[in-house]
Amino acid sequence: MGETLDSLLAESRDRLKTAGIEGAALDARRLVSGLLGLSPAELMTRGRHPVSGADIARIRDAVRRRVAREPVYRILGEREFSGLTLKLSKETLEPRPDTETLVDCIIPHVRRISAQKGRCRIIDLGTGTGAICLALLASVLDARGLGTDISEDALATAQENAERNGLAERFDTLRSSWFGAVEGRFDVIVSNPPYIRSNVVDKLEPEVRFHDPAAALDGGDDGLDAYHAIALHAGRHLEAGGVIGLEIGFDQKQAVTALFVARGFCLLESAKDLGGNDRVLVFEQDAE
Ligand code: GLN
Repeated sequence: MGETLDSLLAESRDRLKTAGIEGAALDARRLVSGLLGLSPAELMTRGRHPVSGADIARIRDAVRRRVAREPVYRILGEREFSGLTLKLSKETLEPRPDTETLVDCIIPHVRRISAQKGRCRIIDLGTGTGAICLALLASVLDARGLGTDISEDALATAQENAERNGLAERFDTLRSSWFGAVEGRFDVIVSNPPYIRSNVVDKLEPEVRFHDPAAALDGGDDGLDAYHAIALHAGRHLEAGGVIGLEIGFDQKQAVTALFVARGFCLLESAKDLGGNDRVLVFEQDAE
C-alpha cells in the first residue's frame, strides 16, 4: 500500500525524534502542512488520503534538512509574523514571536501619531525581512515606512514582502548602516538590531548559528554596538512627540536605557516577551 498523509506524518515525526529534534511531532506537522499547503484542520481530517510520489520525495527531503538542524521556516522559505506571511532569505534574520512584542508595543503610538497628524513616518533600522515595519503598516493605514539595511539581499526581500502583503505603496527601502545614509526626521524609529555578544554567537544553537546571518546577531564585545550607533544620531532623526522602540537582549535593559538617557531620551515603557524576559524598550525625547 502507498503512503498516506498519516503514515508520512508518523514517519517524519519518528525520524526527527530519533535525530533528537525537540518538538519533533510539531515540526513534522509544520513541514508537511507547509509543503502540501494544508491547514492544520485539513492535516487532521485527511489522514487517509494518499500522497503522490513527488510530494513524498519533497517531504523526505525536508525532513533530512531538519535532521541536519535547518530550522523549519528556513526549509519552507517563509514564516508568519503578526498576521503577515514573510519570505526569508539567507541574509535576513528569521522573524521571531519575541519581536511581535515590539510590534504590539508600538502600534498604539503609530495610531496616536496618525490620529494627531494624519500621517506617521516610520523608520525600521536593519529591517531584514521588513517584519517590524510591515506589521506596523498593516495595522495603521495612514503610516508610511522606510526600511534600512546594509544587505542588498535583505532590502530586496523586504521589498518583495511589502509587495506580497499589499504594502508596497507605503514602504521604501534604503541601503544604510544604521542612520548613516538616512536623511530627515521620523515619528517612530524602530529596530531589532544585533545584540548577542560576539563571544556567545558561536555557542548559539545550530539552527540560529548556521542559519541566521551573523550580521543580524553579533552586537560586538558587549552586544551593545548597534545601540551606541543608534543612540548617537537618534536625536537628529526623531520628530517632536515621536518614539523609539527597540528590541533588546534579556539582560540589556539597564545598559541600553543608560545609553539613551545619556543622549537626552527617557524610558517611556518596557515590555517582557512571552518567556518573561525583558525584550522591548520604548523611549521618548526628554521633556527638558
Ligand atoms: N533573538 C535573537 C536570537 O535568538 C537575536 C536577535 C538579535 O540579535 N537581534 O538569538
